[in-house]
Amino acid sequence: MSKIIGIDLGTTNSVVSILENGEPTVITNQEGDRTTPSIVALKNDEYLVGKLAKNQRILNSEGTISSIKRKIGTREEVLLGGKSHLSEEISAKILQKLKRDAESYLGTQVTKAVITVPAYFNNEQREATKKAGEIAGLEVLRIINEPTAAALAYGLNKNISETVFCFDFGGGTMDASILEISDGVFEVKSTSGDTKLGGDDIDQELYNFMLQQEPLNGLSIDNQIKARLMEAIEKAKLELSSAMTTSINIPFLSANENGPIHFEFSLTRSKFEEIILPWVMKTKKSVDQALSDAQLMPKDIDEVILIGGSTRIPLVQQKIKEWLGKEPCKNVNPDEVVAIGAAIQASILAGETEDIVLLDVTPLTLGVETLGGRMTAMINRNSTVTTSVTEVFITARDLQTSVEVNILQGERP
Ligand code: AMP
Repeated sequence: MSKIIGIDLGTTNSVVSILENGEPTVITNQEGDRTTPSIVALKNDEYLVGKLAKNQRILNSEGTISSIKRKIGTREEVLLGGKSHLSEEISAKILQKLKRDAESYLGTQVTKAVITVPAYFNNEQREATKKAGEIAGLEVLRIINEPTAAALAYGLNKNISETVFCFDFGGGTMDASILEISDGVFEVKSTSGDTKLGGDDIDQELYNFMLQQEPLNGLSIDNQIKARLMEAIEKAKLELSSAMTTSINIPFLSANENGPIHFEFSLTRSKFEEIILPWVMKTKKSVDQALSDAQLMPKDIDEVILIGGSTRIPLVQQKIKEWLGKEPCKNVNPDEVVAIGAAIQASILAGETEDIVLLDVTPLTLGVETLGGRMTAMINRNSTVTTSVTEVFITARDLQTSVEVNILQGERP
């Protein structure tokens, strides 16, 4: 049987992994990297994906798209190089590349995959991710939640009995989930999050700050200038995860009658932290919600696992430690752990890995629409799946001959 691959289809980067003889392998792509930028470009009628797309994005900003995951599951059409696309078509390009990279590593065709999504994705976002897989020629055997995948990877081959807090802060989304791991059973106790909060927002906040500085405040900003600024800003952000200060230097950003305009700015970590603090604090709501839904206190948590690139920001780590009273686990690679978990799930489905049971939950409440356009909740969020609830409803009018059952998902009544 051909291998089932595990894919972390990230907002910023994607990773593909497999389990070989019980050990996880992250597949190196054709460019020689273990992560592939989730960027797609259309240039001269040819699609470029990953590093190739990233490398040309400044000169082809209208023909390049990143962070498509933030639009997945919406009907919104995206313009790429003047052509209209659905978000799942763009995601499919990324999946196609990951499939090809896995095939060239394995030397065989790959047709089946497990793909991860943020725990807080709703049904439409999950279905659209599955559709993207199909377009890419992959049968998506299972969609699993990113924190659950991370916990699987953390607990692999360890005989532990622990309550684990997974904090996932990536490029476009954040999740906070609590799992209990015991005797090979991985049981999700609660999950909470925000599918519109991530490193992209931090970049945007820094960009807004930079626009107020000389000489950008008086400059008209076109797409190319914006792309150059965004690239320099992200680079500065990454540097500030290890350095205390960094400088943003963009020569020949623009020109006016007095000659070329250059941009130079020295950014300290403390200023950076001051700018991004509101975004970091926004994640606390989900941390508190996950704890209260699981009816746990921070002292009940045995281990904290950090997932996603934005957890490399020292301020994020410091806040998590403050909120949970625990130093996060250091021996988990936040970029790869989710794909490895997907590969473990793939090998469970292939019957190669036994003795692991995964009990996940519904992230959002499910209900039906009742009279007055209200949602009557039936399956509350954080119910272990699979589950079923039966309830009798009566018609709204006498002699009514039919009803339309409108199923809703979410917390707003
Ligand atoms: P992910 O979705 O997990 O690939 O995370 C990507 C996000 O993490 C992007 O917003 C990156 O800019 C950010 N990121 C990656 N590495 C770092 C780092 N060393 N410091 C701060 N942010 C980072």
